[in-house]
Amino acid sequence: MVLYLLIQCLNINLVDAMDRKRFLRLAALGALSPNFMSLQKLYQHSRSFPDQEALPVLFLGHGNPMNAIEENEFVEGFRKTALQLPTPRAVICISAHWETQGTRITAMPQPKTIHDFGGFPRALFEVEYPAPGDPKLAQELKDLIEEPEILLDHEWGLDHGAWSVIKHLYPNANIPVLQLSIDYSKGPQYHYDLARALSVLRRKGVLFIGSGNMVHNLRLTDWHRLNDNFGFDWALEAQSKMRNFLEQCDDRSLIDFRKQGQAFDLAIPSTEHYIPLLYSLGLRDKKENLRIFNDEPVGGALTMTSVQYG
Ligand code: ZN
Repeated sequence: MVLYLLIQCLNINLVDAMDRKRFLRLAALGALSPNFMSLQKLYQHSRSFPDQEALPVLFLGHGNPMNAIEENEFVEGFRKTALQLPTPRAVICISAHWETQGTRITAMPQPKTIHDFGGFPRALFEVEYPAPGDPKLAQELKDLIEEPEILLDHEWGLDHGAWSVIKHLYPNANIPVLQLSIDYSKGPQYHYDLARALSVLRRKGVLFIGSGNMVHNLRLTDWHRLNDNFGFDWALEAQSKMRNFLEQCDDRSLIDFRKQGQAFDLAIPSTEHYIPLLYSLGLRDKKENLRIFNDEPVGGALTMTSVQYG
């Protein structure tokens, strides 16, 4: 792929020698995917902001929406994580709770707080997370991806997959937050490849957060034991295998999760809570440090396992 990029870059004579060097450095990072990326647009984008150290990438297990307002070990894990992160220019969150036809990015200046759940105490419905958006960044992300077209969205906002965890990272709501939707019509490889194409934004001050749960079977969850750290045998098996795949950088097995047997099928009865993990994998470089935290089962059929790269 890098060879392809080299040929492209040299042939189209986009840049002078100095800038070409920087462009090729981006290519060498492995962030570029010819299927998703307009090289010229990427190059233009790379000139619009100074490069900086890549921000880490997070996948956060969000679990019960009540985690937004409760004090527990998971909330503590989120807070501790935030303390050792550089301050980002903006957060882009891939939440399990925003599935669309086509991929969309929120582009409003002030996203509303969406209370997309029912049957919870009033206090949870009263939570507001008034982080600003960043329409300019949304446009830049759109410009970065030639195919497929990324759609600018002015209707969504911040759903609880985003705000229930981000409020613990940035309680002052002073960092702009955007959401990138999950195209439900696409398979796992699409999401992984799109994430790779977006990874260049990590060097432009963007903190990406996937928010879901690796093991997430609400039908089999014991709702009376949501505060207990216990998992059914199949959930513990899936948790253990997923952790091993993460530690071995075995992205292929995690992308091909439907080939991993019954424990995975029970852990991932529908894909929306798992796919945010694939974005985190695609966004990171395999050479980056992996830190796993909040790695506990709850309610038998959920895991709160969270991941930091970089
Ligand atoms: Zn959820």
